[in-house]
Amino acid sequence: MEFKQNFRKLFFPCYLLLAICYLLSGCATAPVKDNIALYNINGVTYLPLDVLCQRKKLELRYDAFAKTALISGQGHKVNLMVGQDLVLVDGYPRHIKHNVEFYQGVLVVPEKFRGEILDKVFPLACPINAAVMPPTIRKIVVDAGHGGYDPGTHGRSGIQEKEINLDIAKRLARVLNCEGVEVVLTRPSDNFVSLERRVQIANRAKADLFISIHSNANRVRSLNGFEVYCISDSGNSWRSKNSKGEALPVAPSSYQQMSPALETTLWDMIYNYQKAQSVDLAESICRAVSGSSGPKVIGTKSAGFYVLKGTQIPAVLIEVGFLSNTQEEQHLKNSGYRQEIADLIVSGIRNYANEYRLMEGKK
Ligand SMILES: [Zn+2]
Repeated sequence: MEFKQNFRKLFFPCYLLLAICYLLSGCATAPVKDNIALYNINGVTYLPLDVLCQRKKLELRYDAFAKTALISGQGHKVNLMVGQDLVLVDGYPRHIKHNVEFYQGVLVVPEKFRGEILDKVFPLACPINAAVMPPTIRKIVVDAGHGGYDPGTHGRSGIQEKEINLDIAKRLARVLNCEGVEVVLTRPSDNFVSLERRVQIANRAKADLFISIHSNANRVRSLNGFEVYCISDSGNSWRSKNSKGEALPVAPSSYQQMSPALETTLWDMIYNYQKAQSVDLAESICRAVSGSSGPKVIGTKSAGFYVLKGTQIPAVLIEVGFLSNTQEEQHLKNSGYRQEIADLIVSGIRNYANEYRLMEGKK
């Protein structure tokens, strides 16, 4: 008993001293929470920023010379600087109480940065094993067909095309965001957007692809299936726009001295390349869907839809299914089915991007 008491008397201060040393010295042991190593710097818990960004599929760029970092993804940007407690969220300053640190070769942020900044600015909870889109595709315009006072078609149950289109477009955007792709939605809510405006958004966004989502209908109610449209051979309007003085999408110096004939040839080349890419993208999406347990695939078709005619980037219009078919209408009313369609479309885009990366020899 006496020995035990002496033992406690002797060792308790040692433990206390060790604990104080540990807290004050700033030395990091590596306790782990949520599978993330924790760093203790002067009593404050820090987390490694690269791991936090990987979890959310965010891009993190660190400039070791300037000691600054940039986090980007899901359409937002956060700037940080080592030794500063001020961060910029989409350009607006925010204080985070404790400084960002570069500690033992690791860029670390105070634990509260995760909940107060990262989770709020980048709210998506992406699956840890989410795929990554090849770097050839960085930005996509996703167009939910119809909206507002234009409901599109409807099913027997009364469900409107504009609702299905918007839901799938938003799911598509979320999956693409998780794969590191910036998404521009031509309409993020139930509002009317003219076709001209949609084309304008697509062309101004300087995106890599344009994906328009629609649902089908036919008087023949037995018709069902998934189909993808590309621009028809005769239907491109921007090819002839050079006569109206529209600038070619090339560096100004390269076409200032061009003869009209050469300019027309260049427009044709760009148009043909864009059309070939659109066809490849449409076929890739159809392949991804036909290899799944999802909808029956009718195939790729060409048509002169306005949104396809006007866009200057590879563009497809997807008819996800027929609301006029009772069974397909029931499927489309199911959120799990709509998610599956969104996932399959992204697989098709990813496969297309991989093929182009191989062709162009890009990493
Ligand atoms: Zn439609």
